[in-house]
Amino acid sequence: MTDQTFDLVVLGAGSGGYAAALRATELGMSVALIEKSKVGGTCLHVGCIPTKALLHAAEVADAARDAAKFGVTAEFQGIDVPGVQAYKDEVVQSKWKGLQGLLKARGITTVEGEGRLVAPLTVQVGADTYTGKHVVLATGSYSRTLPGLEIGGRIITSEQALALETVPRKAIVLGGGVIGVEFSSVWKSWGADVTIVEALPHLVPNEDESISKQFERAFRKRGIDFKLGVRFQSATQTADGVTVTLENGETIEGDVLLVAVGRGPATAGLGFEEAGVTMDRGFVITDERLRTSLPGVYAVGDIVPGLQLAHRGFQQGIFVAEEIAGLKPIVVPDVNIPKVTYSDPEVASVGLTEAKAVEAHGADAVTTYDYNLAGNGKSHILHTSGSIKVVRLKDGPVLGVHMIGARVGELIGEAQLAVNWEAYPEDVAPLIHAHPTQNEALGEAFLALAGKPLHAI
Ligand SMILES: Cc1cc2nc3c(=O)[nH]c(=O)nc-3n(C[C@H](O)[C@H](O)[C@H](O)COP(=O)(O)OP(=O)(O)OC[C@H]3O[C@@H](n4cnc5c(N)ncnc54)[C@H](O)[C@@H]3O)c2cc1C
Repeated sequence: MTDQTFDLVVLGAGSGGYAAALRATELGMSVALIEKSKVGGTCLHVGCIPTKALLHAAEVADAARDAAKFGVTAEFQGIDVPGVQAYKDEVVQSKWKGLQGLLKARGITTVEGEGRLVAPLTVQVGADTYTGKHVVLATGSYSRTLPGLEIGGRIITSEQALALETVPRKAIVLGGGVIGVEFSSVWKSWGADVTIVEALPHLVPNEDESISKQFERAFRKRGIDFKLGVRFQSATQTADGVTVTLENGETIEGDVLLVAVGRGPATAGLGFEEAGVTMDRGFVITDERLRTSLPGVYAVGDIVPGLQLAHRGFQQGIFVAEEIAGLKPIVVPDVNIPKVTYSDPEVASVGLTEAKAVEAHGADAVTTYDYNLAGNGKSHILHTSGSIKVVRLKDGPVLGVHMIGARVGELIGEAQLAVNWEAYPEDVAPLIHAHPTQNEALGEAFLALAGKPLHAI
């Protein structure tokens, strides 16, 4: 039994926790990083990285299937699932090894075990305690399900979906948000029939409505079936399949049901509330500087209400370390955090949607421009369609950028700079976008909003 003291104790080594630990050591603090499973957390092991590997394997399958369109002789013969798993696992293992080495090289004390907050600044792991001048809570999230819908057998969450040993013949996906549409996209590319059930009126419902509608058209064109505005009622499974019944009485048959209805905060039984941390439905409540109700205790990542994204967690981890060090970092509001959905097509956005901009500023104060990727050479080369919509304040800064099409996720960097730096389209329009890139389409939208469209009607 030991009782050790550190400048900072971090509970949970996912995106938020390990970023806090790394930045804190850079700033000269001694750090204990407590992790019950594997450093890297959800994102590295069962989230961002493995899903994107599967999506890349899906893109390769589509490229093989469509090769003749580009004059290449190739044939799509099928998916070697163990081969895909080996490729995915190699990526994850290599990044995991790299992260372990980085934490060690920075002199962070990594503690293996399940921690519990037993006093405002003390975390207990087994018989040992770790007391910090400051504590960061970063215990992440878990896949939610619906009341009465038990996970098991053919009813799976994203974690089991990542480890499937065969391509489903017919998949039912409950939830048309990011995780649901990414798996739908993968499975369709691999040859499965897919039906998505979404209770809200649109797929990717958090996006600008014009993007959601284009996304639905693209999925329909790919033969991905979806039912919108209808609620799930029940599911039953047998040895051969699963049957989903919707509230409108319709039934859908499949061989797996992926439940992708969101993620809940992983905070139960960790002593937060007992120690005095204000919580709301399992989430840790913080102020905008990520301070909890307990002096010296901060929270980052998916346990803090808002966007559940790895890069938000990284930024919050860095923010908290700098805040503790007295550097007064700037706050980035959630609305200005870039979001990417990596399906085919991709969706990428940052800032206010048109509807939210109008709600905030009034219809007369907002202008938008929608650049169709049909006018963009590189998009034609890639055979992709889509658009880039820029929302601006009339005679004012860019408020939001909303994009759809193959690879548009790679364009979000410039978009988030424009939004966060409150750039005017007139500021950005004279700057040069390389030709031929899809990035030019964003440049064209800025040019058009600055009153000088080039390749636009
Ligand atoms: C299928 C899927 C795909 C995703 N794709 C993307 C994507 O493409 N891009 C993106 O930005 N985000 C993506 N996300 C979301 C992203 O993974 C999360 O937002 C991110 O991992 C949150 O980081 P975190 O540090 O808050 O929590 P986590 O990464 O969940 O880390 C929390 C860590 O705390 C540990 N822990 C929990 N309790 C304790 C305890 N009591 N003691 C010790 N350790 C504990 C856990 O083991 C875990 O390692 C995806 C998520 C999923 C599920």
